[in-house]
Amino acid sequence: MTEPRIYFSAPNVDESDVKLVAETIRNGWIAPVGPELKLFEQQLIQQFGYPNLVLLNSGTSALHMAVKLAGIKPGDKVLVGSFTFISAANAVRYEGGVPVFMDSESATWNLDPDLLEQYLIKHSGTGNMPEAVIVTHIFGRPALICDIVAICDKFGIKLIEDAAEAVGSEYQGQTLGTFGDYGVISFNGNKLITTGGGGAIICKNSGDAEKVRFWSDQSKAQSAQYLHLELGYNYRLSNVLAGLGLSQLAKFDAFLKRKEAVHNYYLTELRSLDWLEPTSALSGSNHWTNPFLIKQEYLESINPDFIVQKLEEANIEARRFWRPLHLQPIYANTEFVGGGICENLFERGFCLPSGTALDSTQQERVVKALTDLR
Ligand SMILES: *Cc1c(COP(=O)(O)O)cnc(C)c1O
Repeated sequence: MTEPRIYFSAPNVDESDVKLVAETIRNGWIAPVGPELKLFEQQLIQQFGYPNLVLLNSGTSALHMAVKLAGIKPGDKVLVGSFTFISAANAVRYEGGVPVFMDSESATWNLDPDLLEQYLIKHSGTGNMPEAVIVTHIFGRPALICDIVAICDKFGIKLIEDAAEAVGSEYQGQTLGTFGDYGVISFNGNKLITTGGGGAIICKNSGDAEKVRFWSDQSKAQSAQYLHLELGYNYRLSNVLAGLGLSQLAKFDAFLKRKEAVHNYYLTELRSLDWLEPTSALSGSNHWTNPFLIKQEYLESINPDFIVQKLEEANIEARRFWRPLHLQPIYANTEFVGGGICENLFERGFCLPSGTALDSTQQERVVKALTDLR
């Protein structure tokens, strides 16, 4: 008999979520406007200390708005950390920008500040400078963000933080998504808190937030005349989904604690596996997921595809790492700066089920499936 499926990052919803969504529907604001949207925005700002925040219908929409706010025009170059999900590069393309992919450093696996600085020194004054940088906090792991901020400031280029996976992660006590000119978070079904689909942009400047409200509502001029002077988008979040966001946010602290417990359990239980690279401590992560690396010398016999397949046989959903963007067929002809760091992570890495609803029996099953491998 097969055991019940263990999902990679199942949403954690209970009756309190159902109740609040039902109340939201009953109060009649079944639209991309309404009191729950306002309240969800206010509570996010209060809880995480975001300066300004606009809810949108996805993290990808938020990245697009950030690229637009950064003033990216057709042909403009944007440096993008290669080790991330596809959204960041696509958002650059939506505005006609040209992504240039950059390798990771090996400590946090995120965009390497040394490479960034070298690149900007090399291109400074050439008329071929990038206009912006997009750095992702991959798997919730904080990038070396203070170094990156300092470099962007020095060269006067805009910084966008993709904190889609990093809600509640911190760097030196400061919430991720608040370091750059613009930050992006996501409430997709697999993220730490979910609205089923949704996201937000964080802006340092309130004028920028107002621009996003305008663009995301079809750039409708303030009149009953349906007057449009600029290209607009329908990117607003539904008030019904904001209701779900509110009930999820109320459980955020408990979710974060659960993520940490799941993480610590894996670390303890998997420590003795000889083929697994010891995981070095990384402070500030929300442990959105649990990434592991296979030791280089074991790759001949154990690789990430093998692990995903073996866990699948036990009805457990594990995942490979994000395929670096410079290895994506759609971006095959795009410039890449760096060496083999993120390619090597991709060749050796896999992520284990990490949902906050994962219980200890399920986690034991995951650990057993891995220890049984050899
Ligand atoms: C989930 C995710 C996104 C996109 O968010 P959506 O809300 O799914 O559009 C962007 N970047 C990263 C790193 C993500 O994990």
